[in-house]
Amino acid sequence: MSDESGDKDEAIKAIGTTGYEPLAPGNDWVNVPVNFLSYLAYRIAKSKGFRPDEVDSPERLRELLPREIALQHSELSEVLEADRRGNPLSIKIPGFSCIEEEYADVVIRVLETCFIRKFDLSGAIKAKMLYNASRPMKHGGKAY
Ligand SMILES: [Mg+2]
Repeated sequence: MSDESGDKDEAIKAIGTTGYEPLAPGNDWVNVPVNFLSYLAYRIAKSKGFRPDEVDSPERLRELLPREIALQHSELSEVLEADRRGNPLSIKIPGFSCIEEEYADVVIRVLETCFIRKFDLSGAIKAKMLYNASRPMKHGGKAY
């Protein structure tokens, strides 16, 4: 596990103050709620020019979804390519492998997609995991 405090401080500097206590310098990322990570993913993307306009119409959100899904697939393909290259260490995030880096990209893309649609990703994850835990063995009759 790497020292994340410098990275976090850089992220805060990039997006401006959030007013959210867990992101105060010296605090840990571990307990940051999923929905706040979603907001942060959006803020970072916007601060880098990838979200120049506010997107608030349902029609525009629907138009953007296929592109966002393609970008999420693209990050999954980068996981595959990292594996094909023997999963070297990441040069962008020291202390992590390229597969870890690319899986992080997948999650970041999903977080941002959920934020701009005001999805309660945290609540949905919890509800779906509880539902999955309640299902019978090998439910659905599928081999895997
Ligand atoms: Mg990537």
